Amino acid sequence: TRVLLTGGSGFIAAHVLDTLLEHGYSVVTTVRTQEKADRIKQAHPNVSKDKLDFAIVKDIGQEGAFEKAVVSDPPFEAVIHTASPFHFNVEDAQKDMYDPAIIGTTDILKSIKKSAPSVKRVVITSSFAAIINPSKGTWPEHTYSEADWNPLTLEEGKANPANAYRASKTFAEKAAWEFLEKESPNFTVATMNPPLVLGPIVHYLNSLSGLNTSNERVRDMIQGKFKSEISPTGTFIWIDVRDLALSHVKAIEVPSAANKRFFVTAGYFTNKQIGEILRKHFPEFASQLPADSTPGGDFPSEGVYKIDNSRAKDLLGVQFRTLEESIVDTAKSLKAVGV
Ligand code: NDP
Repeated sequence: TRVLLTGGSGFIAAHVLDTLLEHGYSVVTTVRTQEKADRIKQAHPNVSKDKLDFAIVKDIGQEGAFEKAVVSDPPFEAVIHTASPFHFNVEDAQKDMYDPAIIGTTDILKSIKKSAPSVKRVVITSSFAAIINPSKGTWPEHTYSEADWNPLTLEEGKANPANAYRASKTFAEKAAWEFLEKESPNFTVATMNPPLVLGPIVHYLNSLSGLNTSNERVRDMIQGKFKSEISPTGTFIWIDVRDLALSHVKAIEVPSAANKRFFVTAGYFTNKQIGEILRKHFPEFASQLPADSTPGGDFPSEGVYKIDNSRAKDLLGVQFRTLEESIVDTAKSLKAVGV
């Protein structure tokens, strides 16, 4: 089976790529430059061209960006769309966030409908950002599930980079469900809605300065930034990138995943707990890490929202790794690039 994976240079996509190859799929992945294609290829020296190939898609914010990439011989049966900006360097929310997220999503769906009739399932990497209601804060009396939608408007999203990111994910996912309803394409859709994604960085793509956004807190902690005070945790739920990658692949394999959102999360964490795990396993970082008595980074005293991840657990059948395993492997991967 041939699969199109968008944004193969991304943190999550790199793990999705490896999971797809492990499961025997033939993969074409889109990247923005030939240089990135070459780096991914070199990191998979024993994988033949019919198992791993590339399509250059320079800017997913442009209409028609995926027109050529969706066509392949043999044809694609599934598409996993992960590419979308995830960073907080936003000058122009429309151009930097909304266009690549929203046009990127609708454009790939349009192109599949038009030119890739063999595609049966499309999996889209959405986010907990499209579920959470940021105005409710820690909302201890609420249980988040796939039934929730972030009520942020595009206009409100322009207030700051974090909101711009959240609005980009919310409206990109909404656009996908609207497309499905209005266009009745040949394919079904499943969305992945993970919260903070932690886990080993991919050495051939990442440098310490260009680290993917969600692992920055682990790097920052090891580099001593939380020594006198631990930053607020922000989002109190997480998933390991390898479990999320497997969830994406399961979502193309499991028939009952069709036309569903999946709130994929392993459970709760705090920045304080990350510090405790690092202290236990990496004595060499001790002088940089927060101590037991360092303030900050804990759960709020009023408690936090509850979570219902039963659909992801029941239908996708993925065993979620523990925070301890994830943080140890993340830190090892950061050590390998010289943190
Ligand atoms: P990365 O920044 O590592 O990956 C983002 C990917 O999108 C990269 O391949 C990047 O290409 C590509 N991309 C971004 N903008 C464009 C554009 N304008 N044109 C073409 N390609 C573009 O982040 P993650 O792997 O963490 O994120 C992947 C997906 O997962 C995103 O959709 C994100 O919203 C979602 N997500 C991530 C979470 C997390 O905690 N990490 C949590 C929830 C959802 P390039 O490498 O060339 O920049």
